[in-house]
Amino acid sequence: MRPLPNSANLTIVEVETDEGIIGYGRTGGSVELINGRLADFLAGEDPMLTDQIWHQLTQTFGGATAALAGIDLALWDIKGKALGVPVWRLLGGAQERVRAYVSFGLGGPNTSMSMVPAYTTEELVEEAMLLVKGSHTKLKTGVGRYEVPNPDADAERMMALREVLGPEVMLMMDAGKNMSFHDALRLCKLCEPYHIEFFEEPVIGNDARQLANLRAQTTIPMAANPSGMRDVYREFLANEIVDFVQPNVAQIGITESKAIADMALAFNRPISNGNGSGPHNMHLQAGMPNGWGVEFHYRHWMEYRTVYQNLPEPADGWLTLPETPGLALDPKPEVVEQFRV
Ligand SMILES: [Mg+2]
Repeated sequence: MRPLPNSANLTIVEVETDEGIIGYGRTGGSVELINGRLADFLAGEDPMLTDQIWHQLTQTFGGATAALAGIDLALWDIKGKALGVPVWRLLGGAQERVRAYVSFGLGGPNTSMSMVPAYTTEELVEEAMLLVKGSHTKLKTGVGRYEVPNPDADAERMMALREVLGPEVMLMMDAGKNMSFHDALRLCKLCEPYHIEFFEEPVIGNDARQLANLRAQTTIPMAANPSGMRDVYREFLANEIVDFVQPNVAQIGITESKAIADMALAFNRPISNGNGSGPHNMHLQAGMPNGWGVEFHYRHWMEYRTVYQNLPEPADGWLTLPETPGLALDPKPEVVEQFRV
């Protein structure tokens, strides 16, 4: 494997009840807001009333979704711990294991791994083979980054992967909202013979019209995690804009993601996701009957492994859910102590 960047930021939200139960979430939101007005708001509330609290939070602090998501995760963790039940069972407990796909070979200035250059095709193939040797059978990689000049070059990379991996390994691609419509369409046409399970966020801004247009012109299924809440997803589902919807609990919370997953179920659409927060999303994916699978983004997976106790790990393309009450994502106290800022 190429050496990975050895630093990362992770903000953990901690909510403690008067009975001494501590719930943990994670957030990309404002620490000042969480420790200030949100903490004041939560004081004296019943943590079991996750729907009621979410409704009040979004009504009052609507723009601060990421901060609210961190609180919502912590409240679900508390609820599970108080009841002695894992969150995926609280959400319905539809599946005891879910597909787990590893996102790999990521790098390049317009990606979440902007600190390292894009992989060469040889590096990409080498890393994929290492993952397959490590029993991973479902893989996703990036396309549409600045350093790969055009869709033909991306198609060659996907073809090289399919050739070495053979037909049994599941392969997905993710453009991270970086491609023009015509580049994305050309890439779809070139990749149709290589059995791509889905193409995630192909076009700039997750433009709904372009996604629908692209979907109509290719056999490759489309996936997207549009920014926004249930109202945005409602339009994506009602207008058949994508095949997979990808709510992320670390961005919009479990309560909101569950509402979206229920809606998707009514449209017979699967959900999938993880982004950098796969382990938090495992509960939604396993809890719901339309949970298709959870992403383990390689770099963030290693962050989770560093920070959290007893992290569930994917094997053979599947993740077996833990029976630990709550989210089963308590941070290691010594790591928090050492790296707290
Ligand atoms: Mg993505």
